[in-house]
Amino acid sequence: MVLNRLVLATHNVHKVEELRRILGPRLGDIELIAYDGPEPIEDGETFEANALIKARAAFEYSGLPAIADDSGISVAALGGAPGIHSARYAGTRDDGDNLRLLLERMTGVHDRAADFTCAAAFVAIGIEHVELGIWPGTLLRQAAGGGGFGYDPVFQPEGLAVSSAELTADEKNAISHRAMAFGKLFAYIHAL
Ligand code: IMP
Repeated sequence: MVLNRLVLATHNVHKVEELRRILGPRLGDIELIAYDGPEPIEDGETFEANALIKARAAFEYSGLPAIADDSGISVAALGGAPGIHSARYAGTRDDGDNLRLLLERMTGVHDRAADFTCAAAFVAIGIEHVELGIWPGTLLRQAAGGGGFGYDPVFQPEGLAVSSAELTADEKNAISHRAMAFGKLFAYIHAL
């Protein structure tokens, strides 16, 4: 399949930046175009379903092959919450409010296991494909570091002694859930 242009379906500026850096070398000659159409209703019950909803909307609006992701943090002791509701956990769509609410709900909780998950979807004529990346770790008791976005200051990736907000952008982009999911997705796209 010859791919010249790819529409990226996300309105989250932090994710666009991260994704451009993650995809950089993998994009080759493919031009990445930001999707500026209406936001679809994300009413899927899984990360995969919501990533597909976003990629499908961008494909249908632009007529071009489209990629999208859906991601979030899932905390074992909270039954997987906030999960697919991560961006609106506190009801305000504000990263600081979400993070404060999560720490509040985890006060006194011993089991701190948490995962970042990213589903990356590709939709083109006759194709719908999703790949998943899961980044395991634990929740810190207080925020640390000024990098990244969202829940990064309270997430300590497995095997590291710092939060994901204390990693450089390149360090995070080499190992994150988003890097894993899009790495697999681009391997699939390039094999088409
Ligand atoms: P989405 O835009 O619907 O995929 O929502 C993703 C939400 O999950 C973001 O707003 C963040 O709150 C959280 N999230 C996803 N990936 C990350 C990450 O890499 N670091 C920190 N928070 C993240």
